[in-house]
Amino acid sequence: MRRLKHKHTRRAVQFYEINYGFRKPFKVILDGNFVHALRDTHMGDPAEILSKLLGGPVKLYVTRCSLLELKGLGNDFSATYGAAKRAGLHLSCGHDDKALSTTECILDNMGKDNPEHYFVATQDKALRVALGRLPGGASVFVNVNGIQMEQPSEAQRRGVKEVDDSNMGVQKHELSQQALAELAQLQRGPREKSIFRRVKAKGPNPLSIKKKKRGPPDQTQKQGSEQDAVRPKKKRVRKRNKEESN
Ligand SMILES: [Zn+2]
Repeated sequence: MRRLKHKHTRRAVQFYEINYGFRKPFKVILDGNFVHALRDTHMGDPAEILSKLLGGPVKLYVTRCSLLELKGLGNDFSATYGAAKRAGLHLSCGHDDKALSTTECILDNMGKDNPEHYFVATQDKALRVALGRLPGGASVFVNVNGIQMEQPSEAQRRGVKEVDDSNMGVQKHELSQQALAELAQLQRGPREKSIFRRVKAKGPNPLSIKKKKRGPPDQTQKQGSEQDAVRPKKKRVRKRNKEESN
């Protein structure tokens, strides 16, 4: 069971690495309820746990809005607030004028397609679903089995496949271009060869006419008919005359 989970997680991380350019150290934004759940379950140091899960060093962030939200929850969450403050770098999320809810803040930081390649650690199911709709949105959460990674959504897999298919299209196109170029070269090839042969035939031809009278008449006619049209014709005539006179 544990090995299976590990395998699924590794594949999911690879999916984000290959298709969306996620790189080590992995950046992870933690939200308040995730930090709270970690504390609740006594799982230990967030950096250590997340690094083990994702299979590489991590860089943790907590957004300013998240911290403000936790602070606003009062004494019951003061310990969580303290843990969140210590858990990671405080991400200046750009909402200094007016703090947003954690969900809105995180989604705003993800932009259209998560260009900063953040994993989001959150207990908020709705936020995880929303992240699954984003190209490159990735999340982790805590449940009874420990820390888990949300598998890439259908939409993400489909989106990646579509991109793959269109790339294949380009490749096919390039292949057909290449095939055409090769074909053109092949078509050019024999013609060049035949020209070469003809030029080469220029040399031996007159000799063969001189020495071997009986030599294959077909060859001489075929090969020499054009080039020898002017000069050798006279010779041939002369020779024949000589032979006849002998
Ligand atoms: Zn914010």
